[in-house]
Amino acid sequence: MNADLLIKNCSILTSDFEINHGQNIVIKDHKIVAIEKELTQIYVAKETLDGKGKLVMPGLIDAHTHTNQQLLRGRISDEYPMIWTRIMVPFESNLREEDVAISAELSCLEMLKAGTIGFIDAGGSYMHKVAEAVETSGLRGVLTCSTMDTGAAIPESMKTTMEHNIQRNKDLFDAYHEKADGRIHVWYSLRSLITCTPELIQKVYEIAIASGTGMQTHMNEYTNEISYCLENFQMRPYEYLESLGVLDKNFLGAHSILLSENEMDLIQKYDSKVVHCPISNAGKGVTKSPSLMQKGVSIGLGTDGSAHSGLSLFDQMKVFKSLMRAFWGVPIFDPVVMPSKNILEMATLGGAKAMLQDKQLGSLEVGKKADMILINIDQPHIGPTHQLTNTLIESANSNDVADVIVNGRILMKNREVLTLDEERIKYESKKAMDDLIVRAKI
Ligand SMILES: [Zn+2]
Repeated sequence: MNADLLIKNCSILTSDFEINHGQNIVIKDHKIVAIEKELTQIYVAKETLDGKGKLVMPGLIDAHTHTNQQLLRGRISDEYPMIWTRIMVPFESNLREEDVAISAELSCLEMLKAGTIGFIDAGGSYMHKVAEAVETSGLRGVLTCSTMDTGAAIPESMKTTMEHNIQRNKDLFDAYHEKADGRIHVWYSLRSLITCTPELIQKVYEIAIASGTGMQTHMNEYTNEISYCLENFQMRPYEYLESLGVLDKNFLGAHSILLSENEMDLIQKYDSKVVHCPISNAGKGVTKSPSLMQKGVSIGLGTDGSAHSGLSLFDQMKVFKSLMRAFWGVPIFDPVVMPSKNILEMATLGGAKAMLQDKQLGSLEVGKKADMILINIDQPHIGPTHQLTNTLIESANSNDVADVIVNGRILMKNREVLTLDEERIKYESKKAMDDLIVRAKI
């Protein structure tokens, strides 16, 4: 039988988050067609990868990022408030189309080299340029526009009417939804509850449902959001959304840190999805992930963009494990409060669920899309090990990702990215960042 790609003699991370050794993976027409120890038929593959010393696992999914903020890297740590008004607003309002283009390319390059095969962008300006970068890089992306029409902290120049907001997002949807072999999905979004009127929130939900797509916003990240909802509506943020009738399984709440018991029950009731961004969140609170897990809520992991933490989900997983143990485990002496396998699940299948694509992505199974990464485990900081799933969290890092395959296509081979020009992107990013520093006065 003909095949596109054959990975021989590798170890794999199974859909049960166990490790199987000595496996072969066959890929054809963008999908996994066989995972077998002894291949039951002869495959003639166009390309073969030697999997000796490699672990093949599902690619990581960054379920909350900001490609628009890539050129803010290193700028917002160790700063007094308000970072939003002093740095973010001048930066974002000075972004030009060409800045967004190079910013998106650099984001995709950084993600590829970190073993991330897809991402959910919280939205920003010139999102068609982000779509182009997704198309070229070969990654998967859930894209949206940053939608807001009110709020004291938003300058008038960044606010637009409800009609304009919806139209802009609809234009992006019409142009790019399910394009690039289905790798691009377009959602509708709210920047945050305090920057959107109730009318806009409901309208965004209606159009997302009518379009059969998802909806996302930043949720319960800052105390002022909770305060805004309590003062104006005498309800907490998730309760407020329920009262507007917009919570459902297509709703994704990024961060979701400051949750009450009732809000966690609402997330469970409506099968809404949450994404935690451990490094970024650590400046604001510790997520109630063990309680959400017990309720069966689907959790994804995100980076919140390069400005907050870099784009390595391996870093996020490490920090997350330590945070969970220190904050939730230590007080009740529960050393298994957040097992490695659950963290790996969040960074893969949890991300696929957040993207509303878990039927096709998120695990290595016959019939699913061939999205996977090959980790070089034949290294002194990884092998030998008693339990590779633990070692992946404790010791592996982005640099250990040797190869990246998305939709059956090799995008990175032996750490060389095949779809993007790394040197040009680094050079142009530096130039764009230098110009932005002057223009935005940051
Ligand atoms: Zn964010």
